[in-house]
Amino acid sequence: MSRIKQSFSHLGQQMEQAVKRGLDRHVRLGVTGISGAGKTAFITSLVNQILNGESQFLPAWQVLEQGRFLGAKLAPQPDLTLQPFDYSGAVGKLKQGHWPPSTHSISEIRLLLRYQPSKGLAGQFGQPITLTLDIIDYPGEWLLDLPLLGQEYAQWCAEVWPELNRGAWQEHSRSWCQKVRALEGNEDNSVINELASEYAELLKTLKQQYGASLLQPGRALLPGELAGAPALAWFPLPPSLLERLSEESPLRQTLSQRFSAYCDEVVEPFFRHYFAKLDRQVVLVDCLSALNHGRDQTEQLALTLSRLSHSFHYGPGSMLTRLFRPRIDKVLFAASKADHITADQQPALLQLMHSLLKESRRQPKYFGTEIETLVLSAINATEQAKVSSAQNQSVIKGRDLDGQWRVRYPGEVPRRLPDADFWQQQGFDFSGFMPPLWQGDEPLPQMRMDYAMQFLLGDKMR
Ligand code: GDP
Repeated sequence: MSRIKQSFSHLGQQMEQAVKRGLDRHVRLGVTGISGAGKTAFITSLVNQILNGESQFLPAWQVLEQGRFLGAKLAPQPDLTLQPFDYSGAVGKLKQGHWPPSTHSISEIRLLLRYQPSKGLAGQFGQPITLTLDIIDYPGEWLLDLPLLGQEYAQWCAEVWPELNRGAWQEHSRSWCQKVRALEGNEDNSVINELASEYAELLKTLKQQYGASLLQPGRALLPGELAGAPALAWFPLPPSLLERLSEESPLRQTLSQRFSAYCDEVVEPFFRHYFAKLDRQVVLVDCLSALNHGRDQTEQLALTLSRLSHSFHYGPGSMLTRLFRPRIDKVLFAASKADHITADQQPALLQLMHSLLKESRRQPKYFGTEIETLVLSAINATEQAKVSSAQNQSVIKGRDLDGQWRVRYPGEVPRRLPDADFWQQQGFDFSGFMPPLWQGDEPLPQMRMDYAMQFLLGDKMR
């Protein structure tokens, strides 16, 4: 070969390498939602679909449907300071017939996805590309803390105190609230610490027994590695008491200082190190459990969603942009556990989520962030069926929590938040199921995970 030809061929190889390197892609996907919303189930299913998915079950995931997906494997996680997301543990639990343990802290898992590009320079060179996907699982309760960064302690108290006294759980929170109302302002640390640990217990009960979702500070509920730290030992004071207390009162000073320490040492670093590095975000929303609980819980879920979605609402001059320069360009709000209802009710579930999200969806602009909404089931625990004896009534069939197979008509999903009269007459019962009988030889049964995958990864795998 002549020298000129040789150097052209060398240049060609170099260009090809550069194109390959330049087009290898990386997505950091955050998965969040209030505890119990379905994060662990979602990530387990997402990883399972990526590793084992078949196009007949994932028709909307184009790279697979077009035969360009070459396969995927798990890889060591990049951030060794984080817990690994325990995928094999979750799969093991499901095979034994149990739901995997829920998210308690932040964790991470990395996958490498190989595919053949269809377009552009890389497509012309015919070289496969690797998409590195990091999935970061973290509690929605932690995301709800973000607005604290723009607040003073007294502002925060004015916001959360009424939420503690909502009708549905007032009876339960009354005795703690009374103790706090009776404070005089000169209490020492031991009293403050005691009330703070009672407050954390109260929040857990409001969450677990009463279905409350807007509970702060988020780490009081899910402390992760911070359990027992003084930065968590604070609580709200009623606005009427704050008005009476001078700025110098020891109680007010201690609580304000701890509030600030929490913001500076816990909230800010979390957002800087993790949130600000996410490219895409899934927010799981369990509307059905809120409906089961009642009116206050469903109303509060709307408020919670509005707070959560503010985290993705950043534009020039917003606090988020100033602090972190976030770069999330796609957010998926997914109404989870759609296998708890009959297929004909799924459009209503989507509308209900839209109506709960309405304030946030109406925000003038998400400044380049694309928002999508979807109804899905990460792991189908039921099958859809019809009962011919009852005018072809749609029903679902699954194993109740006692392990017995049942055929159920779970009822209609309201298209918007029902009014007060409705709640006085009736409620909802979209109860849970045991996981499917599954031995791992097929992909996990799911509903619309392929739409989620196409929205979150499709443009990166063209
Ligand atoms: P997390 O706290 O957000 O991690 O929530 P999990 O993923 O642990 O889900 C909490 C519970 O909700 C599970 O133990 C299941 O009982 C139920 N669940 C979650 N996702 C699904 C789903 O797709 N279908 C069904 N039927 N139940 C689900």
